[in-house]
Amino acid sequence: MRDIELRQASSTTDVDGATPIHGGTEVVPLIRAGLLKADTLVDIRGVIPRGIDGARIGAGATLAELECDPQVPAALREACKLAASPQLRNMGSVGGNLLQATRCWYWRLDWPCRLHGGDECFARDGEHREHAIIANDFCASAHPSDVAAALLALDATLRTNRRELPIADLYRLPTEDDRRTTTLESGELILELNVPEPEGSVYLKAMERKRWAFPMVGVAAARSSGVTRVALAGVAPIPWLLQGGLDQATPLPRNAYKLDVAKTLVQRAETALNGG
Ligand SMILES: Cc1cc2nc3c(=O)[nH]c(=O)nc-3n(C[C@H](O)[C@H](O)[C@H](O)COP(=O)(O)OP(=O)(O)OC[C@H]3O[C@@H](n4cnc5c(N)ncnc54)[C@H](O)[C@@H]3O)c2cc1C
Ligand code: SF4
Repeated sequence: MRDIELRQASSTTDVDGATPIHGGTEVVPLIRAGLLKADTLVDIRGVIPRGIDGARIGAGATLAELECDPQVPAALREACKLAASPQLRNMGSVGGNLLQATRCWYWRLDWPCRLHGGDECFARDGEHREHAIIANDFCASAHPSDVAAALLALDATLRTNRRELPIADLYRLPTEDDRRTTTLESGELILELNVPEPEGSVYLKAMERKRWAFPMVGVAAARSSGVTRVALAGVAPIPWLLQGGLDQATPLPRNAYKLDVAKTLVQRAETALNGG
């Protein structure tokens, strides 16, 4: 493995040109696999807020801290609790979770696919059982973050060292001209989340195994001022806010089952919110 410099960030403007690392549960495996080529890692744990204070959540809070704090809305608590393993939840920060890379096996094996800058999506014509059923034309990867779906349903906003934005604006669908799936710029750090208290919220997750698995489909629903927002994980290349039902879905030949799972979970989540 090549030599990589590791230094501590002294301020939130101290990461330009380097790769930020918080818990490292994503960065370290990507470096080991040769998918992330970093000359310098900057440990940002000392400059990212970590506490939970009502609606304000430091981006450095771990998933383990969020899952057991009663100030945190139920959908977000549950999404954290159902993510990964206890060890990973102890290390992994919520900020890092929102920026995790796709689990697409072609991408992880470094095939020269569209998300790596190539001109083919190998999953569309290949193995795509776990891939996206919505917005999957250019890249069929399925966004793996339970937490992001919960925050999207909860209509959370983010504060970075450069701007404030609704969580929906953190994500973008990759295109021919720009293969990125987030709008975060180099040197931009997520500092804090603002998560408004809903009237009610819920997170449901279907997995390949009973625990410690990425979402096959995750459904978050939150009701505020009588309006319900539903967001999904594992169905599109980015966390997906459901607007106008699931009729927009375009499943691939071997993942149509996900549409049935999504429809069922959406129905169950709405029933649960209505006290059913
Ligand atoms: C085996 C395994 C299973 C998992 N299962 C699930 C699951 O079921 N559901 C789920 O939702 N997640 C799952 N995860 C993802 C896990 O929750 C994340 O890896 C973890 O939360 C990332 O946090 P971290 O602090 O370790 O991030 P790091 O590895 O330190 O960083 C991840 C990325 O975010 C960047 N970064 C980190 N913090 C910031 C910040 N504040 N501002 C800007 N950039 C930042 C880093 O540069 C890097 O690109 C799983 C991970 C693994 C390895
Ligand atoms: S789904 Fe996306 S990440 Fe996977 S092979 Fe296709 S372009 Fe690459």
